[in-house]
Amino acid sequence: MRTGEWMSVETVEGHRLTNRRVLVVVAHYDDEALFCGGTLALARSAGSSITIVVATDVRSTSGPRYERRLATKAEGNRRSLRRSSFLRVCDRLDADFVELGLPNLPQRMTRQSAAFTQLRRTMTRALLEHRVTEDVDLVLTHGTRGEYGHPQHICVSEAVTDACANDEEVWRFSKHEEATHRVVVNQADKMSLVREYQNQARPDPTWRPEYDARLVEWTGHYEWFELPTSQLDFLVQPVE
Ligand SMILES: [Zn+2]
Repeated sequence: MRTGEWMSVETVEGHRLTNRRVLVVVAHYDDEALFCGGTLALARSAGSSITIVVATDVRSTSGPRYERRLATKAEGNRRSLRRSSFLRVCDRLDADFVELGLPNLPQRMTRQSAAFTQLRRTMTRALLEHRVTEDVDLVLTHGTRGEYGHPQHICVSEAVTDACANDEEVWRFSKHEEATHRVVVNQADKMSLVREYQNQARPDPTWRPEYDARLVEWTGHYEWFELPTSQLDFLVQPVE
């Protein structure tokens, strides 16, 4: 990894987003807007088609205590709002979408746990059953480190590795210091997609990732990716 050398990161050329069949696979509603919304806006305006797969759904989308929290009316409302935000983002990108409705791994979960391995298998199977990885040129998904370490993001990244064994390119979201490539986005276009999710925060319904230390690097002019240097690099991911 080229830690600390992010200024030398390669900029992705525009034609790599033109007239392509783009598949996005993310863990939760809002990940698509936050990690690659600017790239998707560029791809759409360059004639690409977009399909967005979310591994969870309105019942499982939130954190570790979701079963108990869902019992409260406010939490149920918040999730519904979050899903309606997702539908608006899909609509604005003219994107098809699929919700896999799988469970959400708690933040404390590690990839050594049985639940992680089980979910990875289930997710791979679900991706194959929905045939979403067929007839695709470009796949955008979570990084092998889950950006800021979220186990559900890591699990999605690995399930995509398992489900994509063809010739499609896989670009993985990355922190800027680990990125190999960046896309120069239209920041206003991107943030207007992110703003669709302002209703998800409590108690103040103003979600502002530019003030969240974990998320701020995805609110500027760039989106950050790790691209494989060869097919082998993404078929055989190192175990951490
Ligand atoms: Zn997420």
